[in-house]
Amino acid sequence: MSLVVQKFGGTSVADVKKIKNVARRVAESKKRIDHLVVVVSALGDTTDQLLELARQITSNPPERETDMLLSTGENVSMALLAMALNEMGADAVSMTGQQVEIITDTGHTKAKIRHVGAERVIQELRKGKIVVVAGFQGVTSDGEITTLGRGGSDTTAVALAATLHADYCEIYTDVDGVFTADPKVVPGAHKIDEVSYLEMLEMAATGAKVLQSRSVEYARNYNVPLHVRSSFHEGEGTWVRSEDKIMEKPIVSAVTHDSSEAKVTFLGVPDKPGVAAELFGALADANINVDMIIQNVSEKERTDISFTVNQDDLRDVRKISMKIAESIHAKDTRFDERIAKVSLIGAGMKTNPGIAARMFRTLAENGMNIEMISTSPIKISVVVREENGEKAVRVLHKEFGL
Ligand code: ASP
Ligand code: MG
Repeated sequence: MSLVVQKFGGTSVADVKKIKNVARRVAESKKRIDHLVVVVSALGDTTDQLLELARQITSNPPERETDMLLSTGENVSMALLAMALNEMGADAVSMTGQQVEIITDTGHTKAKIRHVGAERVIQELRKGKIVVVAGFQGVTSDGEITTLGRGGSDTTAVALAATLHADYCEIYTDVDGVFTADPKVVPGAHKIDEVSYLEMLEMAATGAKVLQSRSVEYARNYNVPLHVRSSFHEGEGTWVRSEDKIMEKPIVSAVTHDSSEAKVTFLGVPDKPGVAAELFGALADANINVDMIIQNVSEKERTDISFTVNQDDLRDVRKISMKIAESIHAKDTRFDERIAKVSLIGAGMKTNPGIAARMFRTLAENGMNIEMISTSPIKISVVVREENGEKAVRVLHKEFGL
């Protein structure tokens, strides 16, 4: 028996016409797939609009209420899609995250999935129904509604695919698949046919917006093949699967960029044990993700520590930084939002030395200064001035012949 989870993003269900279109496509798939689960995002820009409404009321909404508000977006789309399917004669039933038993931790607005029950999903599938699930939402073990962070419907879909042992998970979106760079920035960027989980994970973490990072982590942990494809045509998209199943292994697969981060610098921090632990411990306690970190060579027993965080977290980071700067006796703090992170990703880097040097040389030849560097076995990221970000992507895409 085949079982597939399909996920449709906000742009694919932006209005009634598009919802009907998705319904047609889902009904068509059901003819060849025995068990079908469909996860939907909120219509179009609904989530942004809801956030804007909240902002008009308060600059600091309680996170619990933010989740109560945001979770309504997906409730609208799940019900409308189920109606559209039934109208077409396809037997469908919609379910919220709570009904599906997507149990999360208590980290409101970016909760992590702890467990997926899916008991009722299985019951409905057995009756032959298409189960339409509201993405992005979950519930704590105390019955509080949570959301999974922006783009979280991807993770709902993959988590369900893992729990139900789906054959694969299809992510339907408004682009043809995963590209070698953002086609809006690099006109010559092209679709990648297949990419490994690890590469996709690095790409999602460094700015590729097609998939939420956490969904890729989940897919990798549970070995769920992902197919990222267009909701507007039938063409094949990009398959994301384990590295040993990938036929072609280019040295560099993609160039990504991200201007949503901010750089925070603690100047003149005492160079002694426990200082970094206190600083990053405080950020971790506040559930703030820190990305790149660098610490300078110390001079006169003092050093500078810089790190990047998401701009959305900057308010909280400023508050925490004031307190911490005092308690660790830092001389000053700086906050800089005008940065861009540009990254090269490729599984072949592991075995091909010299990629970093070539990357840095290319940037230097184009007059761009590098402010921070971080690497993993298959990724090199640099921070440059924000205004240089897109140009950096273009020159690197060309240099590495993508
Ligand atoms: N609607 C949510 C968002 O806009 C979740 C998603 O689209 O995946 O982030
Ligand atoms: Mg998305």
